[in-house]
Amino acid sequence: MNQRRPGFPARIAASPKGASVPAHSSTAAPRRIASWASTVAPAGVGLDSSAVRERMIERLAAGGVANLEVLKAMRAVERHRFVDSALANQAYEDTSLPIGLGQTISKPSVVARMVELLLGAPGARTNGLGRILEIGTGCGYQAAVLSRLAREVYSIERLRGLHERARANLRPLRLANVHLLLGDGTLGFPTGAPYAGILVAAGGAALPPAWCEQLAVGGRLVAPIADASGTQSLLVIDRSAQGFTQTLLEPVHFVPLKSGLG
Ligand code: SAH
Repeated sequence: MNQRRPGFPARIAASPKGASVPAHSSTAAPRRIASWASTVAPAGVGLDSSAVRERMIERLAAGGVANLEVLKAMRAVERHRFVDSALANQAYEDTSLPIGLGQTISKPSVVARMVELLLGAPGARTNGLGRILEIGTGCGYQAAVLSRLAREVYSIERLRGLHERARANLRPLRLANVHLLLGDGTLGFPTGAPYAGILVAAGGAALPPAWCEQLAVGGRLVAPIADASGTQSLLVIDRSAQGFTQTLLEPVHFVPLKSGLG
């Protein structure tokens, strides 16, 4: 279906930045807020969302996100459009939110942290961020952020309901460089390989071999990985001409990586 595409374009330079990443957890909205939001929030948040979003950007910067391109991309993407209207009033808090089918949209600080790490890949620092593979499209928010920073974004989701929801969320944005795929992300997406970056939004106990195989030389993989006790940490794998190096970073908490279609 998608054709193999040529190399990486010149875009943004960045370096990894240490920022602690709070847990990514699924919390249902209190009823009281939901009923208020359903009458007031959608229009209200929509009308003055740039001010609330600006405060989110200030908090991200204060929390250690230093890459101005990342902050710019997150300032541009309206997160409240990716969550249920009943939750729109919480869209700019640093919290994960339910997006249906038991899944969650990652909290903004986690999105910023992972995207910033991707931009710190050796290849991205010299040539800009080329083709990216995202595992776990969810509602499509992170794909929209990535679309502003990478040349092309391939994003795979295993649940049809969310794949379609992401498609609907992204349609009005007309992001020509985002390709949404329905499939099992543990297999990667060989047609688009090699990738300058692979970003995984769901946590497993082992790294599927396809991911490293599909990573370009100079590319970087950022994924949550669970240890024997089930505790997840952020794992960064860099591929060079000499091979792979891995770095384990701070603890995180993502929804589980599953195999096959849902
Ligand atoms: N980046 C998303 C976060 C989604 S949560 C956002 O911005 O909203 C993680 C997603 O990973 C869930 O939707 C889940 O269904 C999906 N997922 C889990 N295992 C997967 C797999 N093997 N392939 C593709 N998607 C997977």
